[in-house]
Amino acid sequence: MPRVLSSNLGYPRLGEQREWKKTLESYWSGKSDKATFLDTMKSLRLDHLRKQQQAGVDLIPVGDFSYYDHVLDTAVTFGLVPSRFGYTGGEVSLEQYFGIARGTKDAAAGEMTKWFNTNYHYIVPELNNLTPQLTENRVLKLYLEAKQELGLEGKPVLLGPYTFLKLSKGYDSSEFAGWLNKLVLLYAQVLSELNQAGANWIQIDEPSLALDVSADEWTLVQEAYTRLNEASGNSNLLLQTYFEGVDGFGKLIDLPVQGIGLDFVYGLEQNLNALDDWGFPEDKVIGVGLIDGRNVWRSNLEEKLGLINVIAQTVSRDRILLQPSCSLQFVPVTSRHETALEPVLQSALAFADEKLAELALLTRAANIGGAAVQTELDQSRKAVSQLAGSDWRSPQHPDQVANENDTRNVPFEERRSLHDEKWKLPVLPTTTIGSFPQTVEVRRARRLWRTGEWTPEQYEQFIQQEIREWIQIQEELGLDVLVHGEFERTDMVEFFGEQLDGFAFTKNGWVQSYGSRCVKPPIIYGNVNFVEPMTVKETKYAQSLTSKPVKGMLTGPVTILNWSFVRDDIPRSQVSYQIARAISDEILALEAAGIEMIQVDEPALREGLPLKRSKWQEYLDWAVGSFRLSTAAVKETTQIHTHMCYSEFHDIIDAIKAMDADVISIETSRSHGELISSFEVHGYDKGIGLGVYDIHSPRVPGKEEMVQLIERALRVLDPKLFWINPDCGLKTRAHPETVAALKLMVEAAQDIRRQL
Ligand code: GLN
Ligand code: ZN
Repeated sequence: MPRVLSSNLGYPRLGEQREWKKTLESYWSGKSDKATFLDTMKSLRLDHLRKQQQAGVDLIPVGDFSYYDHVLDTAVTFGLVPSRFGYTGGEVSLEQYFGIARGTKDAAAGEMTKWFNTNYHYIVPELNNLTPQLTENRVLKLYLEAKQELGLEGKPVLLGPYTFLKLSKGYDSSEFAGWLNKLVLLYAQVLSELNQAGANWIQIDEPSLALDVSADEWTLVQEAYTRLNEASGNSNLLLQTYFEGVDGFGKLIDLPVQGIGLDFVYGLEQNLNALDDWGFPEDKVIGVGLIDGRNVWRSNLEEKLGLINVIAQTVSRDRILLQPSCSLQFVPVTSRHETALEPVLQSALAFADEKLAELALLTRAANIGGAAVQTELDQSRKAVSQLAGSDWRSPQHPDQVANENDTRNVPFEERRSLHDEKWKLPVLPTTTIGSFPQTVEVRRARRLWRTGEWTPEQYEQFIQQEIREWIQIQEELGLDVLVHGEFERTDMVEFFGEQLDGFAFTKNGWVQSYGSRCVKPPIIYGNVNFVEPMTVKETKYAQSLTSKPVKGMLTGPVTILNWSFVRDDIPRSQVSYQIARAISDEILALEAAGIEMIQVDEPALREGLPLKRSKWQEYLDWAVGSFRLSTAAVKETTQIHTHMCYSEFHDIIDAIKAMDADVISIETSRSHGELISSFEVHGYDKGIGLGVYDIHSPRVPGKEEMVQLIERALRVLDPKLFWINPDCGLKTRAHPETVAALKLMVEAAQDIRRQL
């Protein structure tokens, strides 16, 4: 009987106890030398491969492991090192590699940006007038290493030339074809060497082929893969897409490669329909991405077996590879150690290792029939259904289901005069974005409290003392709207998640965000509910110390959603509305405590945008709806602020307007001109504060710089609606520079006020 095989697309780099991160940081800080670094990395790399062997995966990726980022690995393989690093050709040294990643004393690091719509960041290759050259066949070395050390016939993984170019900068569209040609020559060399070394399958990742690809580009891709296919000889090329269904399905399956990988989780409907419409070429293998590589839940394996049967009607079983939907680098390593979680929750989780086990199980079930693995299937079904049937997920009463069409009772124009009358703020009011420096002392205090060395009272007193100090500083600086400073928060999502129903926090659920930086997203596993006020105590305390208004400070529903792993049994929009309702309860509690200016931060609203434009509107509708739901219930006189820390605005400006916040503050100082010109075109007629200095650097800005930024903005925006604030929260800054910068900011505002 023909056999289905299992295949993995990529494994987390981090290690079960973040060994990878520790190895990097110890090398960077000089605590370990290069030889130790290389050795430790090698043993981690081999460990990860061994684990996949033990899990019974048939095709195991090699080359996905990286010292920092796989896009940077690709750039370096082709010698694409920006000239500022003084690179003159040949193999790129480890020092140069980390120089590009992290910057050197003479040269700024490469730009970092999000990998599609994940929270992983890659280093953007800069092509400019560089000449690509093959500096080393990195993936070949790793392929040979796996073979020698483990007897493993690995599957080399490369980032494909089309996607690599799409993610690069420093060329214009007329040069695209030229660049693709140059790169394909080098890729051809890499592939031909892999072929000579005996590689059977080679995975080439082309996620960008699942996005918008023009007809001209398809022609170029067709030519490119014709070349690559010739160069790879007996090796089989598996062209891998993920994160979306493929619009150009007909063209994709026509490419001269031996296998096509498709995402049957995030592109399920589209890819299934396309398979129905187009069929599948008889000479190709299909990679069926059916285990969710981006979320943390166990799969419903019966459903997945059903999907395999459906696909097997079009593609014969010996041409099916079962895979995760994408690399597993976006999920934590293993849920095995999460023993502090409720058992029902813990057993419903599947991180990378558990997903590989699922893959192996599905493969066995598909090959020898479900009956032979019935016990395991039953176990899995039980784990899934226990969580599904738990009280945490019990369907909500219709009255509890959010009304997504909530709006404030009166339009902004009317609110505005009520606010002017109530708050009597000067023109160009000055404020900050919320947090003040999280110093060593603040972090130490929290640690002492968490470990029980301090009583809750001691900790509370400490927090109060910080608040007192900073209220006084803000008064002395002459700021108009004050904040309490967020000293009690580690993280703007965790702080709320810990106090709401429906959230869980893992011990070791880390994923790589960029370089050695990891995040541990909360897990939203059940209905989200408000339990008790979360921010009232500190805010009220701060307000009791001053006659100036203190702005309440909350994280918005969409940001909480986008920075968490979210249950997948109901639509994201519903979870978002649940969070919105809880935030609304908090806002009403603040209002009842006399806090009538409240900021609801939505820095992650933009990052939730779907990859395909055609899906943007649907997302924006519920995202904006969630924000409105959370803020709509306040009194007319209460002023709602929001904050976003990005300046790409022009393409979602209607949505931002529809949020109907009384005041919005936006990061600007790094791309001021761009943002202002987008307001020139689109206008903005509610309160707005454009960040007048960059908080990402310790540098204290000059007053004149800020004056100029403000004056430029006031040529476009109504001075009566304009606020003065830094770009973002100040938690990463030190005390002296923060005070110095804010002092100049207030003076800049005062100077301009005098001229108005
Ligand atoms: N209020 C938050 C702070 O000041 C906002 C953080 C953010 O925008 N990411 O830290
Ligand atoms: Zn911000």
